Formats: sequence, structure tokens, C-alpha cells
Amino acid sequence: MRCPECDATENRVVDTRDSRGGHAVRRRRECGVCSTRFTTYEHIEERNLYVLKQDGRTEEFDRTKLSRSITIACTKRPITQDEIEVMVDLILDNLTNQLESEISASYIGEIVMEHLAPLDRVAYIRFASVYRNFQDIGEFQEVVRDLSTEEERSVQSQNQEEFPF
Ligand SMILES: [Zn+2]
Repeated sequence: MRCPECDATENRVVDTRDSRGGHAVRRRRECGVCSTRFTTYEHIEERNLYVLKQDGRTEEFDRTKLSRSITIACTKRPITQDEIEVMVDLILDNLTNQLESEISASYIGEIVMEHLAPLDRVAYIRFASVYRNFQDIGEFQEVVRDLSTEEERSVQSQNQEEFPF
């Protein structure tokens, strides 16, 4: 597991505890090089789901990717990583209850937005404004990472009329 700050692989676990009602184990780790602390989660692998992308390609659903996208949308918002993981579980429950094992990327995006909307307006708008354009979680991550605070503000004001709440 690479350090999010310096990319080093050397780290030690400083705290381990149950998370999400015992469905996951949460570990606090400390980087052996720069001492940055970060959190990892261990959970049972879900049944294989496939994402049908806009361009017609299919790829295996990746829980980590989805969780990371939501985490990025929630940057500097008052939402804990545990809350995000609980949300990802609910989204996953929803997806695994679908009859099809192939689910369109845009449908996943809609489900994420449904969950984000009541939780945090800014995170929702970030996700919605980027995801609606790109329909791809990978591309989405790149774009959100590049968003400056100023751009976020303008994105917010641009979208205010579209989202009347
Ligand atoms: Zn480090």
C-alpha cells in the first residue's frame, strides 16, 4: 500500500478496528518514510459486477475506484471516510440487487448522486457536474483532482439553476 504523500511502500499499522458493523477492518497506517498517516479498509470481495462504459467497453467493477471517486468529490467536506464507505456499501447493495451483472456507468453515476445529494450539497454538485460530462470514473478522478477552489466555486454557481435545492 503506497503512501498517498510520498509513494513509499514501507509503512506500519498503528491502529486496527472493526468498521461498518463488522463488515470491514479499518487500519490506520503510518508511512515509514514521511510519517504521513492514512487509512486502509479490508473487506470481503463482492460478486463480480461489470461496468458497461459509454464507449461500449466493459470492465470489472472496482469498489476501490468508486470509493476513491466519492472521496475526491468529498474533499474538505465534513464527511468521514467511514461515512463514505457506508455509502459505497449501500450503493453496492443496490447494484448487486440488479438482475443484470452488467451495469452501465451512467446508471452507477446516478445512484452515487442519489446518495450524495442528501448528504452534502457541494460534494454532490462536484460529482454531478463532472460525472455527467465524463461518464467514466477514471477520467472523473483526474478532472476533480485538478479542480481548484476557484473553479469549484464557478462550477457551483453555474449549476445552481439546474439543481433547485
Ligand atoms: Zn510517505
